Amino acid sequence: SKKAVLGPLVGAVDQGTSSTRFLVFNSRTAELLSHHQVEIKQEFPREGWVEQDPKEILHSVYECIEKTCEKLGQLNIGISNIKAIGVSNQRETTVVWDKITGEPLYNAVVWLDLRTQSTVESLSKRIPGNNNFVKSKTGLPLSTYFSAVKLRWLLDNVRKVQKAVEEKRALFGTIDSWLIWSLTGGVNGGVHCTDVTNASRTMLFNIHSLEWDKQLCEFFGIPMEILPHVRSSSEIYGLMKAGALEGVPISGCLGDQSAALVGQMCFQIGQAKNTYGTGCFLLCNTGHKCVFSDHGLLTTVAYKLGRDKPVYYALEGSVAIAGAVIRWLRDNLGIIKTSEEIEKLAKEVGTSYGCYFVPAFSGLYAPYWEPSARGIICGLTQFTNKCHIAFAALEAVCFQTREILDAMNRDCGIPLSHLQVDGGMTSNKILMQLQADILYIPVVKPLMPETTALGAAMAAGAAEGVDVWSLEPEDLSAVTMERFEPQINAEESEIRYSTWKKAVMKSMGWVT
Ligand code: ADP
Repeated sequence: SKKAVLGPLVGAVDQGTSSTRFLVFNSRTAELLSHHQVEIKQEFPREGWVEQDPKEILHSVYECIEKTCEKLGQLNIGISNIKAIGVSNQRETTVVWDKITGEPLYNAVVWLDLRTQSTVESLSKRIPGNNNFVKSKTGLPLSTYFSAVKLRWLLDNVRKVQKAVEEKRALFGTIDSWLIWSLTGGVNGGVHCTDVTNASRTMLFNIHSLEWDKQLCEFFGIPMEILPHVRSSSEIYGLMKAGALEGVPISGCLGDQSAALVGQMCFQIGQAKNTYGTGCFLLCNTGHKCVFSDHGLLTTVAYKLGRDKPVYYALEGSVAIAGAVIRWLRDNLGIIKTSEEIEKLAKEVGTSYGCYFVPAFSGLYAPYWEPSARGIICGLTQFTNKCHIAFAALEAVCFQTREILDAMNRDCGIPLSHLQVDGGMTSNKILMQLQADILYIPVVKPLMPETTALGAAMAAGAAEGVDVWSLEPEDLSAVTMERFEPQINAEESEIRYSTWKKAVMKSMGWVT
């Protein structure tokens, strides 16, 4: 029976930009036993603004946990087998809440949000010393993307936030902090913490000393007492205080891209993965060394799997808009009803017919870091139809990946021989084939696509005091992979890529 082969179980919360999931894995086999998913609303109150409701996010986590536990019950699997819970989350998204009432003081300002463009401009004029001040400490370019500027905006513009800070009631956190604080009791003793990977995306964290940086906090004007305690990615933070899993330790925490790196077993220097979700994020493990990019990549904390374990760093190529362009075609243009339908449209034509779509909705991230860019669709003719645009949207995701892969290869010196992929979009086979064609290397995808959740579960299960998951790479050497080999010739691939670059140039300078 199923129960006989069952090892201890580990759960994972995967709180992404588009949805929340809870998943339960068998720690012996890494098999996914049950899960539940809820889509999360995104609000666009003004052009360029992107917000989410922190309470909706929290409720979606509880809902996913309850539903997953019900499904386990239907499979005759006892939820008392769940020994630990890991959290992985959309990164940078910023929440400030009141520790006395437990209420958020404003909506979560989502990583994609552009409202801080003028904040960034005025800050960049005041950078002390040389321009490297922020980058050398954080590995990040000054941009609307990271939490510090979002927090600065909240302190400048939201009276409730200002008041709570004055009255010493305010707590700041990225989504992991908000969730862990709430799940471990909230106003009744909730633990206010984050892990090194999430901290490394705030722009307040010194990635060398692994501490909040006093000079950075002064530069951004952030009171340090509102910041969460920084912990490793794998240790017991606290226990679930309510719901079906009350009493279970939360013992893993990783930003979603770090979690995917762990879930894909990229533990060796030079191993890399690309995750296709709302955005697209290519991370390459650089070991214990911080490598700084000359080609527009970020330096970030990859993971630290235990209090006494060493820290690993990664080079990261971040693309703001990938799956989000499919959601835009669904919600704003209405040319598809579900994200999956994009594949059918693209398949009908099998080419963009010279149409190029640069989805620079939030400016361009890596390798350009160009806030003035905006989206364009170009190369249109009388002949162009929605199928071509659908195809161009998928191709755009692949071209953007090609740009960050090229940058990665230049920074690392050794070109990747294949690309390990995961994320919601990778169920799209046309996209995967196009990606192999455009990169001209094989694209390799695990059949179990939930690598982000798997990484968080592994971190939770491996924590001291839980000890149900050993992080030996050979554990998962049996993972089944699907491979996509390049099918077009390199020359054709290069021509398409260089036309894409022309389109990118045209997308720049729209906003001044
Ligand atoms: P996130 O972690 O950012 O929440 P996911 O990994 O859950 O994202 O992926 C969801 C994104 O993938 C959505 O933006 C959605 O539009 C896109 N997506 C989902 N299925 C497909 C598909 N079959 N083809 C193309 N895009 C898809």
